[in-house]
Amino acid sequence: MRQKTLELSIALFMLIIGVILTSVKPSIEFSSRGSIPAYSFYASGHFPVVNDEMASHSARRGDNGVEFKEQPTDQVKGPYVVEQITGDRGKSGSGATYVIYINWDGFAYRYHEWANSPSGPGTPVLNYLASRGALFTNVYNGFPGTTVPMQTSIITGAWPAIHGNTHLYYDLAENVVKQMNRENSSETIGEVVAESGLSSASIQQFALEGRGTWPDDPRHLYVQPSGSWHTRVAEAVKILKQEAVTAGDGQEVIVPGIPRFLAIYADDLDATGHNLGMSYGFSLALNYEAWKAKLTRKLAYMDSGLGLLVDALSELGILDQTAIILTSDHGMSHFTGDTSLPDVLETLSELGYVVELLSAGEKAHPRTDIVLVGGDLSLQFYFRWDIALSEYDEIIDALKAKPYFGGYMSVNELAKAGAHPDLGSLFIWAEPPYHFSPGNLRLRVGGHHNSGDESSRQVFMLLSGAGIRQGIVVDKPVAIIDVAPTISHLLGVRQPADSMGRILEEAIAAY
Ligand SMILES: [Zn+2]
Repeated sequence: MRQKTLELSIALFMLIIGVILTSVKPSIEFSSRGSIPAYSFYASGHFPVVNDEMASHSARRGDNGVEFKEQPTDQVKGPYVVEQITGDRGKSGSGATYVIYINWDGFAYRYHEWANSPSGPGTPVLNYLASRGALFTNVYNGFPGTTVPMQTSIITGAWPAIHGNTHLYYDLAENVVKQMNRENSSETIGEVVAESGLSSASIQQFALEGRGTWPDDPRHLYVQPSGSWHTRVAEAVKILKQEAVTAGDGQEVIVPGIPRFLAIYADDLDATGHNLGMSYGFSLALNYEAWKAKLTRKLAYMDSGLGLLVDALSELGILDQTAIILTSDHGMSHFTGDTSLPDVLETLSELGYVVELLSAGEKAHPRTDIVLVGGDLSLQFYFRWDIALSEYDEIIDALKAKPYFGGYMSVNELAKAGAHPDLGSLFIWAEPPYHFSPGNLRLRVGGHHNSGDESSRQVFMLLSGAGIRQGIVVDKPVAIIDVAPTISHLLGVRQPADSMGRILEEAIAAY
């Protein structure tokens, strides 16, 4: 009883704090369009992109009426712009002297639409980069849509079936659920760059730590400044300006030259999307609208930091020789209300199966027929007998009838999508805002991305600058595994050994 009262008091306290904080206006530095100092610096003299135009495109996605009105008319025209542009519009040689790969963990494509809606704060820097590059509107990740497997897919160009990282799985032979760390059996773009004799640096892009960049190698440096995106941008600027940074065990390092390949990773958007607590001064979002507003403000904050990086490149005089690739490992789906997990368990039990949901390290009971792994937004199914097709279909049909059922991938579809066989024999996900968490969620919304829903799978991607066609929008579906081969092309090095992706040639100037 006492425990309950305490929980209720804490919940009430959070509610009050949340209401107070959500009613506070976002801080002025990025609350209004055009007020970002970094942007005003380089906006003059380049073609600005009006945010409303971006937003109206977004709202009409699918009708292909895409254009950046402020650009010279010979640059972009109406539908299927990619096909209409012919000839070499970029610098000759099609490459870039420098490539900067930025990963904003959990940057759902739709955040950009939200921020650029008429009432949004805008993303002037992203839009400026889009005006001198290619914006991809249909970029997808793979399965599972969790951070390490997908970060690994981006830097190897391979799906989990090849690089081997599938995060969480049930080992049928050993009867135990296992959780992976950073296992990766495929070559990374960082390793290719180092082997090719080019210099590189990684700012907290952990998937490259010890895999092409190292804390004790100034020519291929790995640093981990932690903190927010702005802190990491400051670190990147120091490296670009060849100022001392702290690496490894605290030793000061100065890179011997501007790294040809620079990777920067930031997880601010991901933390905001998960909405687990107060982070970076933003309140806990109690409902979907507040969650959306919080993510939109955070994106505006990310955008202002990006402006500082672009400013630094401009000051160094290398902006025109630099290609910037900005993308993400997954999006984010919101969830709230009562969990649908008990109904899944009951439905399977009514079909006559003994079912258990297991966490890492747990073993199944000898009588268990179906082991479920996952939770939050999706469930991985493992059948502990030789399941007949009719039984398999019966399970899917029973779950399909539920309002919380968002979709599924069969074992064959998972294989086709490049999932690791250990991901399971069936993968289902919840229709937002339903969820399969262990408990109900009544006082706030949650965010997660281990889902097949569009909101989790569709990520932002932008290629901009040297070697990239200017001001184009690519609506054709592409995948995050296309990033590594594209970086290879821009730097003129070979592709990572296991790469399954393709060069995004529709965005490359010389193609
Ligand atoms: Zn992530």
